[in-house]
Amino acid sequence: MERPYTYWGFVWLPVILLFVFWAQWSGSLKGLQNALDEQRMQLYERPASQDIVYLSIDKASLDRVGLWPWPRSKTAEIVDRLVAAGAADIVLDLDLSTASSQGADERLEQALAKAGGRVILPVRYDPTAGRAGGFVLPYPALIDKTRLGVSDIPVQTDGFARTLPYERMVDGRFVPSVATLLSRDSVQPGSHLVIDYAISPTTIPTYSAVDLLDGEIDPGKLRGKSVIVGTHAVEVGANYIVPVHGMLPSPLVQILAAETLMQDRSLRSVPSTPILAFFTLLLFALSWSRRFSELSHQLIICFGLAAFVSVAAFVLQKRFAILLPTAPVQVLLWLYAVTRALNELTVRRWKVLQTSIEASNMRHMLTRIIGDSSDAILIVDEDGMVLETSRRAPEILGFDPGLNPMRRLSKLVPTELVISAKDSIRLMQADQWNSAADAEPRLLELPSGRVIEYTTTPSRLSGRRLRFRKIQNHYVACITARDITEKHLQEARLEYMSRFDEMTGAMRRSEFLHRLDNSLLRQRTAEDRWQTVFALNLHRFKTINATLGRSVGDALLQAVVRRLNECQLNLSPTARLGGDIFALFTLDLVSDAEAHTLSRQLAEIVEAPFDLDGIRAQIGVRMGISPVRLDTPTPAATSLSQAELALDDATRKGGSGIVVFDPESFAKQEHAREIERELWSALDRREIHIAYQPQVLLSTGQLVGAEALVRWHHPKMGPISPGEFIAIAEANGFVEKLGRWILHRACEDAVTWPDRVSVSVNVSALQFEREGFVEDVKTALEGADLPPERLHLEFTESAFIEASDDLMKNLRSLHALGISFALDDFGTGFSSFGYLSRFPLDAVKMDQMFVRNLTTDTASQAIVQSIKTLADGLGLTVICEGVETDEQRSFLKLIGCQQGQGFLFGRPQSAADIAELSRCRVSVTA
Ligand code: C2E
Ligand code: CA
Ligand code: CA
Repeated sequence: MERPYTYWGFVWLPVILLFVFWAQWSGSLKGLQNALDEQRMQLYERPASQDIVYLSIDKASLDRVGLWPWPRSKTAEIVDRLVAAGAADIVLDLDLSTASSQGADERLEQALAKAGGRVILPVRYDPTAGRAGGFVLPYPALIDKTRLGVSDIPVQTDGFARTLPYERMVDGRFVPSVATLLSRDSVQPGSHLVIDYAISPTTIPTYSAVDLLDGEIDPGKLRGKSVIVGTHAVEVGANYIVPVHGMLPSPLVQILAAETLMQDRSLRSVPSTPILAFFTLLLFALSWSRRFSELSHQLIICFGLAAFVSVAAFVLQKRFAILLPTAPVQVLLWLYAVTRALNELTVRRWKVLQTSIEASNMRHMLTRIIGDSSDAILIVDEDGMVLETSRRAPEILGFDPGLNPMRRLSKLVPTELVISAKDSIRLMQADQWNSAADAEPRLLELPSGRVIEYTTTPSRLSGRRLRFRKIQNHYVACITARDITEKHLQEARLEYMSRFDEMTGAMRRSEFLHRLDNSLLRQRTAEDRWQTVFALNLHRFKTINATLGRSVGDALLQAVVRRLNECQLNLSPTARLGGDIFALFTLDLVSDAEAHTLSRQLAEIVEAPFDLDGIRAQIGVRMGISPVRLDTPTPAATSLSQAELALDDATRKGGSGIVVFDPESFAKQEHAREIERELWSALDRREIHIAYQPQVLLSTGQLVGAEALVRWHHPKMGPISPGEFIAIAEANGFVEKLGRWILHRACEDAVTWPDRVSVSVNVSALQFEREGFVEDVKTALEGADLPPERLHLEFTESAFIEASDDLMKNLRSLHALGISFALDDFGTGFSSFGYLSRFPLDAVKMDQMFVRNLTTDTASQAIVQSIKTLADGLGLTVICEGVETDEQRSFLKLIGCQQGQGFLFGRPQSAADIAELSRCRVSVTA
């Protein structure tokens, strides 16, 4: 309903306009126009000029003479007397068209002759007369002694005499009208003069003819004046209906016409079309105006315009004798106002209708929505009466649906809901309702045991306006409730499952930590007593699971938890940290000794045989123990992970199976973790380099090769031994990248040495197995342009433990290239002779452990001796590691070992040092 009036302006205004234009052109508005003109004439009265006098043949005159028509001698006497009094023009408005008695006619002719052309005789138009084109003239004897004036007063269709012709064509010549003659105005051919009836006829000097005849009129009053002699209407003669004054006798109308001319009051009309066009535009603008679109404004403007037009017309008519055609404009304005008002009424009615339809639709919709809702919905008023309920409400809230529809809320639902409804209404009444906070869903357990989630929201209904402009508002509350029993149970279950292990009912890790944290006894009674955490791992559980089946395994776990929970050792309930790992903590402070006793008791409890549905099962236990130290930031979490670390140790070590957390081993693990973290970027940071340790012929001391040993110098941790970080690199896979780098580096360094000096590179089992390893070696050789014969690869037996086809293939391809292999650390591992024959080896490296004890321990001597014999049998070179003393060298040389490596011949050093060393032919004399 935006701007309905614009639309209105477009449709109705043209219709109104068409109507007004049609009315104007068809002349339908003439009557109204005349009435308006007349009204304005009534408003301003003008006096007559006093220059024209009416000599009335009134009743007194008729009574005196006694007959009518008068004898012409009387008329002659009047003319004589007027001439004698010095009148200017004398109009005889009497019928003189035919001759009467001869004496009287002569008498008149004499009088007229004596008057000397001062007398004007009337010419009337009378189509029945049949002479002079319908004009009735004075009889001929009079005509040459007088002047002629047309005395016709045309009557309009409505019977009113308003205009007068200036002149008329009579017998082929123009004869001026009496009024024109009297006013001595110049003749304006063809047009009519419009008489201004504002000139008051009562101000025209009027005398009775009898008074003149009796000589009772002061001749001074007639001197120089024009006089019309005529009958007074009521008596005989013609009467005319004129505006303003009603009936007037013909002479007075003539005089008023003459006065109009003399006072220059001939009323001129202006054309209506431009005025109408102007107002049309104005009304179009008005109908479009946003500012004045209100009905009251529009009406005020319409009335204002109408008034303005009236005033303007009045002023123009009064001051300038201009007739403004106001009728069409007034009609236009009135029609505009009326249609506009009607339209407004229609629009308002339509709006009201629309609103009531909308309201009723809305009510229906709401009732439907509420009724059909799957939730329980109750609408309650301030007095606690239920106004509306959804169909499901009785079912969800558990009340009887058959109760009387006007019901008290308190009779249907638990008190909590009644209070909630009351509170919400109270809050809204106090303007304190906060929809975000106060409409939060709340939970309620019904007496039936079902759980509902409900919200209560108040609403304000605008109400009646009371006295003193106060509004009495009404309030309702809407309670929406939903049965969430299932969801609630589900959530409770999920919550339980997040805290407890479903199968055993033991706590989960988070719950364990939570409880431990809450139970921490922060006030110590003694310095050397603390709460203690035990972490247990079932030993041989996996075997039972595998052999007796998972169901037995599950039953065993449940039984373990049950036993631990029932042990009465003042311990927490059991937690299951994973698979077969459990944890408990002491509820009291205990000393180290007491903790140890407790751990033994726990072990006994778990290790006692189980009877699982007829199946006997027995398991061992490994245990890690950690006291809870309150000086760490997270005592619970820290002590649990320490107990687990201790458990790891216990699992590794075997033995009694119980290990107390040792901060030192923990520190070691921390250190290993740090190494792990740092390792990845060590190559990029150029912290890693290679040292080469000389390998010499024991017979001559000649340098024949060098072993590449990787070195890592960390800026903070200092030098880190390969024994430490290689294992980590193998564990996390970094060894691949590192190994490739070492290979390349070693080959590049080796080409700077003499051809007889080879380079030995340690390769871990992981590298060997890789598919691309052969390619890596080839590219390293080709990149450095090193002959394959000068590259030796060292690996330990561990590479062969799970020798795959891929590994064999790799070994063979590399061997085919001309690369030699040495089995490292021989004698320490399995030392299986099988390996020695099955793999394409060229040398064994005797472990330094045997070399170290060589001179003191005969067993070592025997081992070295037999390794040498074995190698000889297989055609393998023996390289002895860790040669530190001359005695060791001499012994090894004596039994015929070919090569030696050790601090005696040289420490691991730079590639340049090796090059330098190789220039001396013999470094250590044989
Ligand atoms: P390994 O292959 O048995 O290397 C020999 C180790 O004995 C080296 O220790 C070396 O410095 C040391 N050694 C040599 N002569 C003597 C001696 O006369 N007396 C004593 N007490 N020790 C001697 P390092 O450099 O600490 O290497 C330890 C282990 O790290 C190596 O044992 C090897 O298994 C591994 N490793 C070193 N470099 C690499 C490498 O580049 N790649 C791979 N995969 N492993 C490497
Ligand atoms: Ca080695
Ligand atoms: Ca070795």
